[in-house]
Amino acid sequence: MTPCLTLPDRPLAPIDGSTQGFPVGRIFCIGRNYAAHAEEMGMDSREQPFFFTKWPTALVPGGGTIAYPPQTKNFHFEGELVIALGKPGAAVDAAHALDLVFGYAAGLDMTRRDLQFEARDKGRPWDYGKNFAYAAPLAPIRPVAAGGHVEHAALRLTVNGALRQNGNVADMIWNCAEIIAYLSRFERLLPGDLIYTGTPAGVGPVLPGDTLNLTIDGLSPLEVTIAPPDPAFA
Ligand code: MN
Repeated sequence: MTPCLTLPDRPLAPIDGSTQGFPVGRIFCIGRNYAAHAEEMGMDSREQPFFFTKWPTALVPGGGTIAYPPQTKNFHFEGELVIALGKPGAAVDAAHALDLVFGYAAGLDMTRRDLQFEARDKGRPWDYGKNFAYAAPLAPIRPVAAGGHVEHAALRLTVNGALRQNGNVADMIWNCAEIIAYLSRFERLLPGDLIYTGTPAGVGPVLPGDTLNLTIDGLSPLEVTIAPPDPAFA
């Protein structure tokens, strides 16, 4: 068979120091992976990890300007370390999990918090709160071959220059190897998969005109500016 429609290609994420792009297959995200953020969400941090997903079409490669999304009045930032996988693996153990990693990047898990909480409180899926166009900005990926793995690195997020998140990836409840090992028990992980590893405390809302800047020590920074809503949704 030949396709009856032409679909967009897989999005490519930029790679530090390379003219090649990283083709993004699936986007996994872990919830509540820093104790202080779990507490600000009103949750106990002592539970097994859980995951949600975003479409690859939610990727915003390299950052830039994104429209304020429809159907929300509480659009939040979550600054996160992102793992990019270069190799497949099923039921890998934590001691070998990092062998799957292609590289790391700074990313934003943009969230329609009002829709997420409405879903949470009704026991419904989080999709509308987490998975939508422009919900996954990603800075250029630093390959492991160039900079090694990321275990201790300050994570800082500013909005219009004011510091809002000030954490360290060393404070993750589940570290990168544990996240990959756990997730790979439920699904064979594949090259091109991204894993957003959770956010430290300090999340909050943004409005059109705001500029977000996320830095994780040793990685390329990510800058995103919020534009007015797409008039198509008015
Ligand atoms: Mn998150």
